[in-house]
Amino acid sequence: MKKEIAIVAYRCKKCGKLHYPYHDRCLACKAREFEEVKPEGNVKLLTFTRIYNLPWGFDQRYLIIGVVEFENKIRAMGQIHVDDSYPLTTGMTLKPSWGTVRIQYGENVYGLVLEPL
Ligand SMILES: [Zn+2]
Repeated sequence: MKKEIAIVAYRCKKCGKLHYPYHDRCLACKAREFEEVKPEGNVKLLTFTRIYNLPWGFDQRYLIIGVVEFENKIRAMGQIHVDDSYPLTTGMTLKPSWGTVRIQYGENVYGLVLEPL
């Protein structure tokens, strides 16, 4: 079954600025009231990096980490699941899902997974 993307952002009720993760006070206007916003649609790849020297405990040979922006402007970081040779470019559209980003002590650790459309 498809899991819901477990990301919630917070929109300032006073000025509308989006915060993710949560902040106690709005970074723009210092207000304290927020409404919860769920990410929507596909994502645009803003930047990415490939990591080859992984800490002990990772089964993968390398990781590709991207910072993306959802259609409703929420920004988040996730793992891009493509081959090392896949031609990633900033600005491209990816499909987000909530999936396994790591296996720790035999259990799946879930997070934001990004794949080509
Ligand atoms: Zn504000």
